[in-house]
Amino acid sequence: MSFCPCCSELDFSTCCAPYLNGTPAPTPETLMRSRYTAYTLCNVSYLIRTTHPKTRKNYSARSIEQWAKESNWLKLEIREAIGNTVTFYAWFSDKSGQLQVHKERSTFRQEKGIWYFVEGTEAS
Ligand SMILES: [Zn+2]
Repeated sequence: MSFCPCCSELDFSTCCAPYLNGTPAPTPETLMRSRYTAYTLCNVSYLIRTTHPKTRKNYSARSIEQWAKESNWLKLEIREAIGNTVTFYAWFSDKSGQLQVHKERSTFRQEKGIWYFVEGTEAS
């Protein structure tokens, strides 16, 4: 048993692993959790693949990889998941060891039955 990095308290194999391996995430929240897990694993291709084709150009693989690698991901907290939006806090320590909280409200969109991350705005 190994706990999933997304803090669900479920086993990784029955939580985010199937999504990282290609099963479409059934809800915005499960997609959000799996994307956080992808950050902890530095799985950049998953992060790009699950970003909506229309907004994908706004996100560079290089900067995703840099942020994922430089950060020590500590904890995910889902604050609210309503409709196609998920508000979350992600705790990490940055490259200088400083504790940081990333607060984001993410928007998702379903396309042919598959959920995609569209964009994120700062949350309070
Ligand atoms: Zn998970």
